Amino acid sequence: MTDITKGHCLCGQTQIQFSGDPAWVVHCHCESCRRNCSAPYTTFVGVSRNQAEMKGWYLRAYKSSEGVKRWFCRHCGSPVAYDAKADSEHIHFYLSALQNPQQFTPTAHVYIEEQLSWVHLGDDLPKHLKLP
Ligand SMILES: [Zn+2]
Ligand SMILES: [Zn+2]
Repeated sequence: MTDITKGHCLCGQTQIQFSGDPAWVVHCHCESCRRNCSAPYTTFVGVSRNQAEMKGWYLRAYKSSEGVKRWFCRHCGSPVAYDAKADSEHIHFYLSALQNPQQFTPTAHVYIEEQLSWVHLGDDLPKHLKLP
């Protein structure tokens, strides 16, 4: 049996889950993610759509740009997923929404060209100007 990884929003009413290993785990420094999370950058787990699930009465999506939806909990406001039509195979959950965010370790930084100047990265991970 495959392990199921679970997560939830701040209030717990919106749940996410997936099975199997993530396709990738990355930090994103783009401005949209920054505003969506009100944080200097955020971290995603990209997982297979057909192994992923989101549920809850308060689950809603905001269309942040053409073909991109940001799923969130309407009750507490927490973002839970980034959903780009262009990537028909994967959906991206916010790593920090997982029950145990330490379960997966990021392997790269993306959109480093939009990184805030006072963010100093102390890791040796690959840094991509946009996407690899
Ligand atoms: Zn919530
Ligand atoms: Zn981003």
